[in-house]
Amino acid sequence: MKILISNDDGYQASGIVALYEALRDIAQVEVVAPEQNNSAKSNALTLHSPMYVHRAANGFRYVNGTPADCVHIALTGLLDYRPDLVVSGINNGANMGDDTIYSGTVGAAMEGYLFGIPAIAFSQTEKGWAHVDEAARRARQLVEQLAPSLQGGEQGLSAASPWLLNVNIPNLPAHDIKGMKITRLGRRHAAERVITQTSPRGETMYWIGSAGPAKDDSEGTDFHATTQGHVSITPLQVDLTDHERLTYWAQTTERLGRATA
Ligand code: MN
Repeated sequence: MKILISNDDGYQASGIVALYEALRDIAQVEVVAPEQNNSAKSNALTLHSPMYVHRAANGFRYVNGTPADCVHIALTGLLDYRPDLVVSGINNGANMGDDTIYSGTVGAAMEGYLFGIPAIAFSQTEKGWAHVDEAARRARQLVEQLAPSLQGGEQGLSAASPWLLNVNIPNLPAHDIKGMKITRLGRRHAAERVITQTSPRGETMYWIGSAGPAKDDSEGTDFHATTQGHVSITPLQVDLTDHERLTYWAQTTERLGRATA
């Protein structure tokens, strides 16, 4: 099994090192990750400046680009093979609910998915890397469980119909983490206010405030599962179409068209 690993916290982050160490025992792994922290870069691609790929002493390759750049470059020019799986993380902090829209961790995994490769984004629910080795062990467990379908082409899970999983792991020691739970995304409240400071030159500086607390953390959500100590697994899709309201909008635009005719 061949696995491409990336992240958004940068190639030196504890989370990607732990993930690499855990997965190298069970697969041929390659790391291509951003040089700098690229959290909240979502699916951004760098179009207006050149990128360079360097190799660190530990073999990791790093790019002066975004998480999606890293996976894009790896898949379209760097690797001379097609990986069976793309994994991203382990992120320093939760990617639950609306976080998934902004997350560079999810963005890297999604880039693999868009290329038709199954992909998993891994995050720890709290910042600070507490119990990151246990999180990496859980990540390996999941990859091991999915491995037969990745290589054998099991019905419905094969690379012909790629899938994208968003996994959040509580920062708990081995004996406190409960089993895996399949969840839907919860919702957060609107983010906190922007933070302003005065620069040494007297100008106002703006810092994006922290994400809001959970608004929908009801049973079945990623928030709920991780609060209970479970490893949350949310299958994601990329189609943003509001399918439920397609008919409503079709009728509305037809009505508006008649009114203005
Ligand atoms: Mn991050």
